[in-house]
Amino acid sequence: MAVNVFTYTSGLVLLALLVVSVTCRPTLEDTHQGVGISSPEKANVAQARSDSVQPKVPDRPVFILGDVEIPLHRNAIRNKSMHWKDGIVPFVVDNDYPDTARATILAGLHEIEADVESQGTKCIQFIPRTTEQNYLRIKRGTGCHSPIGFDPGEDGAVVSTLGPGCEIKGIVMHEILHVLGFYHEQNRPDRDLYVDINETNVAVIRDFYIRNETIIDTMGTPYDFESIMHYGAYDAGKVHRYPVITPKPKYGKTLRLGQRLGLSDIDVMKIQMLYHCPIDTSHIQRGLGDRLIDYCDFAFGMCNFSLGNATTGSGPTWVVQNESTPDGPVGGISNGLDPFLFASKEWDELSSLTTEDVSPQGIRNSTTTDSAATTIAPSAISKTPVTVTIYSPLLTSGDDGRACIQFALFQYGPSSYLDVFVSGPLLQRQRLRTFGDVSRMEFWVRYEIKLDMGTKAEFQLEFVAYLLEGTVSLDDYYVVKGNCIYAD
Ligand SMILES: [Zn+2]
Repeated sequence: MAVNVFTYTSGLVLLALLVVSVTCRPTLEDTHQGVGISSPEKANVAQARSDSVQPKVPDRPVFILGDVEIPLHRNAIRNKSMHWKDGIVPFVVDNDYPDTARATILAGLHEIEADVESQGTKCIQFIPRTTEQNYLRIKRGTGCHSPIGFDPGEDGAVVSTLGPGCEIKGIVMHEILHVLGFYHEQNRPDRDLYVDINETNVAVIRDFYIRNETIIDTMGTPYDFESIMHYGAYDAGKVHRYPVITPKPKYGKTLRLGQRLGLSDIDVMKIQMLYHCPIDTSHIQRGLGDRLIDYCDFAFGMCNFSLGNATTGSGPTWVVQNESTPDGPVGGISNGLDPFLFASKEWDELSSLTTEDVSPQGIRNSTTTDSAATTIAPSAISKTPVTVTIYSPLLTSGDDGRACIQFALFQYGPSSYLDVFVSGPLLQRQRLRTFGDVSRMEFWVRYEIKLDMGTKAEFQLEFVAYLLEGTVSLDDYYVVKGNCIYAD
């Protein structure tokens, strides 16, 4: 087989997903189990289990490097020799994966197979390898990366690398779609009609090259913002505070880029077309269905949240922010342009400052709108911490008492952080977790919190931002019954 294959690491897929697992039971005796963290502490990356109380975790978010190895001079998706014959993919998963990771990988393969099934017939079949010369090898190396299409090495194996941090079902599915022949969606020839690329913030510019139609066959499908092969707004950037890829504003503020929940309908159709199966998406179940308990992306307001009083009475509060903030997010996590929920003491004080409040070097006064005049003297900020709170409505867990809370947090500054509390009719109010402060995560990070109350129960969530210097922002909040999405 060809060995003259130049490969490179293309794309930095940032998946800053942190999972926190908390068990709590609605009895007084157990209310301290797994909770009660009394001070801000480093945010943690999870290897969560539904029954773990204090997960052992590395101290920084997961950055997944990768993730495609593109053979030059060969056309992956258009080149039939780079398709898997008859859609049959013999595979092996290396032995050194933990059981849970292996199960996640197999679940990812199974979900692709089930989603692309066409009129009751399998379109892609993953079969354990026996004696096949060519096969997919899933290897536990470093990072997540895969060749595009059927591209075996001399030993006959097509190697997809899924290292630690990549064993999340949606990432597995993304990598396997590369192996089936698919590029990233934002490499399509018509890309520039749909999204803007902030080239000054691109870490590796060739990740964003448009591949022309001799290489990528869009098969007549529309540009798919929802594709599992699309980057998120902040992926592959040099500075993670700023988005890299944003939709053209006319496509609206509810678009979500970079989802890794499952194949989109168009992802399924493309696989079926590439492998000559009749198009059939009728059997695919989309969305969270009846698992969804509560949701808000803050695109049009605060949804079902209600505001608590700030400790200073009429002082700072949470606001839905539609534009870039001076020191917090530039845009929401969904697509880099979308609204998010924002709490800032300085922001509030800035807007209420008068000239007398500002020292000479502060140069900000109440009548100045010049964008250069945004610096305020530290002395103008009072040193009194403020807490601002939002409350969810009363929610109900699944029958088994489990629920998963997911949200994205952007924490900025040396002394701001977020506490999440839970309470309920049968549940003593307790802190689930403190996020931020020490780690100073100046970019969006997704968190998951597992709740296990033992039996079906009502609960209310409280998000409390502590503000001294710095800001706290939230976006993309949802609560589902049962297991967490990414940490299953
Ligand atoms: Zn990829």
